[in-house]
Amino acid sequence: MLENKTALVTGAGRGIGRAIALALAECGADVAVNYSGSKEQAEETVRQIIEMGRKAVAIQADVSEEADCVRMFAQAEEALGPVDILVNNAGITRDGLAVRMSGEDFEKVLDVNLKGAFYCMKLAAKGMMKRRYGRIVSISSISGVKGNPGQINYCAAKAGIIGMTKSLARELAPRGITVNAIAPGYIESDMTAVLPDKVKESVLSQVPLGRMGKPEDIAQAAVFLASDQASYITGQTLLVDGGMGI
Ligand code: NAP
Repeated sequence: MLENKTALVTGAGRGIGRAIALALAECGADVAVNYSGSKEQAEETVRQIIEMGRKAVAIQADVSEEADCVRMFAQAEEALGPVDILVNNAGITRDGLAVRMSGEDFEKVLDVNLKGAFYCMKLAAKGMMKRRYGRIVSISSISGVKGNPGQINYCAAKAGIIGMTKSLARELAPRGITVNAIAPGYIESDMTAVLPDKVKESVLSQVPLGRMGKPEDIAQAAVFLASDQASYITGQTLLVDGGMGI
């Protein structure tokens, strides 16, 4: 399904990003595996992709730094060829009530989750426009759709992803490039493992399907949006949330 395609997935050493990188490779894509600090985990993702018979390369870059993103795209293209599929997955949280949140914590979350996605969108779009083909998928969040107490910074960034997705979808549609987002609900990963049990129980009680999602649930949606089967879908945000957003 994705043979002869090159994908770049940010934050693909672990969690949802790793699951997306592996699922894209399973469908035939070669994958550039970005990480910021998790070198060994990124190398493990690469090893698993190579074992599937695909090409892969691990590339260190902090997506909140534009110069890092420029270098990352150059390295990815040198190793695997032009990027056909970009998945903006890298993300962090720095939770706290709005009245107590420092400007630094607000800014840091926007820098990684929103500005990082912008830099990568911009760099990917340049090559995609020339080739008149491309798929951009960004990971937003149910928090960006509904809001969440204690996450004013994260919700701003994730809602921003939805706005950027719509805007870029309009800009790139004439070139046959689609731009979409996925809003995961409550997914098993390092990000949610640290939540206190009380919070976990409360969030779970809001999931109609009655279970946490798995990184693979998000990965399958990303593969679909990256595929030719989704060629008439653009500017959309797909909630993959067990019904939380109903
Ligand atoms: P995670 O396990 O904490 O993974 C976060 C990933 O982001 C890691 O691979 C990390 O790489 C990468 N990352 C962080 N800062 C980075 C930076 N400056 N540059 C490049 N990469 C960076 O979280 P996850 O649950 O898999 O989350 C993946 C995405 O899904 C995030 O955007 C998150 O907001 C979103 N999401 C998650 C949930 C959930 O319930 N888990 C729900 C909604 C949305 P390093 O380890 O190398 O730093």
